[in-house]
This record gives sequence, structure tokens and C-alpha cells, in this order.
Amino acid sequence: METCGVFARSQRLAGRGLIVCALLISTYEVSPLKAQSCGSAGLAVQVLGSGGPELQDKRASASYLIWDHGTARVIVDAGGGSALRFGESGAQMSQLDVVLFSHFHIDHSGDFPALVFSSWFEDRKRPLAVYGPPGNDFMPSTREFVRDLFSEPHGAWRYLSDLAGPAAKGTYTLEPHDVAAASKPVLVFRNSDMVAYAVRVIHGGFPALAWRLEMGGKRIVFSGDTNGEGDGLTQLASEADLFVAHNAIQEGATGVERRLHMPPSVIGTIAANAHVKQLILSHRMLRTLGKENETEAEIRRHFSGPIVFANDLDCFPVK
Ligand SMILES: [Zn+2]
Repeated sequence: METCGVFARSQRLAGRGLIVCALLISTYEVSPLKAQSCGSAGLAVQVLGSGGPELQDKRASASYLIWDHGTARVIVDAGGGSALRFGESGAQMSQLDVVLFSHFHIDHSGDFPALVFSSWFEDRKRPLAVYGPPGNDFMPSTREFVRDLFSEPHGAWRYLSDLAGPAAKGTYTLEPHDVAAASKPVLVFRNSDMVAYAVRVIHGGFPALAWRLEMGGKRIVFSGDTNGEGDGLTQLASEADLFVAHNAIQEGATGVERRLHMPPSVIGTIAANAHVKQLILSHRMLRTLGKENETEAEIRRHFSGPIVFANDLDCFPVK
């Protein structure tokens, strides 16, 4: 811009120079990153964040976008860094039907306020539903989470309290819901062309959900963070066209790591028993990055379908 400013000052009496400058300004004002093309022809999952909490993994934390013929319909989790990736994806908050949270660890929810503030500048005229787990002593419920961020009088960003208020017809407000999930999948919501199911999963002592979206005859399943205990996730993932699972620990991990997350052998067993058609591995933490060969070999002992390690902004068509 400074080049243009100098040029404009030196050429201020030359109309031709100003036209060139205007062209330069318009070039600069265009986003430096072209929108990624994902899902323009059908259903697709775009990985906004493929990393874990550690910033040194140089990845955004967990977040996924479901594209439906070029429209961003659903976002699942919004970990740190994912708001930037959302912008890079070319999506608009006004396109979304729903926000789904697996749980409220920061690497799954930290960029939600950034998404919401960005949406403030869009022309959205309908409520935005937000679904996530109930709370306990360690975590807020989904309703508390939204209230603690945006509601008067104590919300951290109560200057946006208009968004947290009761919905008036034709206005944009956030509509949070606590999902009473169980150990078996339950129907959470349905609209004209989308159905969502959730199941309670075990993630240490933190309330957590796995999600299944059904759209256009396809099933897309997100494990969220879980140690894989029980068979609820296998039931939820049954016949999934795409199964996004979290590769947060290595085989043989013990202690807190294992109480929170599933090792490759458990991912492989669930993918095989559920007969999923494609397995995407995400939430790639420093302790699993660089161990892809070992991870894949362990999963291959159980699951013979396609396996892909996700990177930020990867786009996976759901066929
Ligand atoms: Zn977690």
C-alpha cells in the first residue's frame, strides 16, 4: 500500500497514475488467500484444524466443516486457530445451520468467540443453533458456555449480549442446547434435509459427545476426543461413509493420556466393527506426528479400508 501511496503522491496530478493506483488498491483489498474449493459439487468435510492443543504442531486445533454443494452447513468444534482456517476456507458464518461441540476443552472451543464476532459483520437473519454436552464440575454445559461468553451481566464479551438474548423472529441469536446423550446414539435434531445423532463418549471426567450427521443419504461421523470405552461410538459410526477419529496418542500410552484418548488399535477396531468406508485421522498431537507409519500399521491389523492423515484445510468429498 505504501508503494501505492508514494506513487499517488508523486502522480497526484496525473489521472492515469491514479487509475493505476486504484487498481493496485483493489488488488490489495482482495483476500490474500484464495477460497479453497471444497464441496462445490456435493457433500464434503473440510478439516479446519487437524492438530491438538500444542501450538508447536503448527496446526489449528480441532474443527471440521461440512460443505453441501458449496454451502458451509455445519461446523463441528472450533479449536484455537480454526477461525482463521474458517476464513481461509471461504465459508461464511451466515451459511451455517448449526454448530456442534464435542466438548469444551480449549482445543475444541477456543475460537468460538472469534467466529461469533466475525459473524456479527455478516447479514445473518436467523438464529444459529449450538448443540453440545451437558456440564459437570469441570466443564460448563453448552448453555452455560454461551451464557458465560456473551450474556449480561457477567459474560466475558457481554458487549455482544444481543446475540445471547431471546430470539425475535427474523433476527440472529445464538440458541444453545444441552444434549442429553446416552451410551446409545440418540436423535438430537432433524431439519428438512439433515439429521444429527450423538452418543456420550468417555473422555476422562469431561462430558463429551461423538456426532453423526446424515445428509444426502450419507453418514459422516466425528469421534471427538474419547478413550474408546464402550460400544456407543461403534454403533454411531456404523456404515459411516466418513469417520473422523482423533489420533492423539500412540499405541502403548498409559495413565492420563490413555484415560482421555484412544490408541491406534482401538481406532482400528472401532472402524472395522462399524464397517466405515473411509477413516480420517486428525487431532494429530506432537506425540503422534512423525509416527504415522507405526500408527497406520497398528490400525491395519484391524481395518482394511482407506486411511488418511488429515492436514489443515484438507477437503474430503463424501462419496
Ligand atoms: Zn479433549
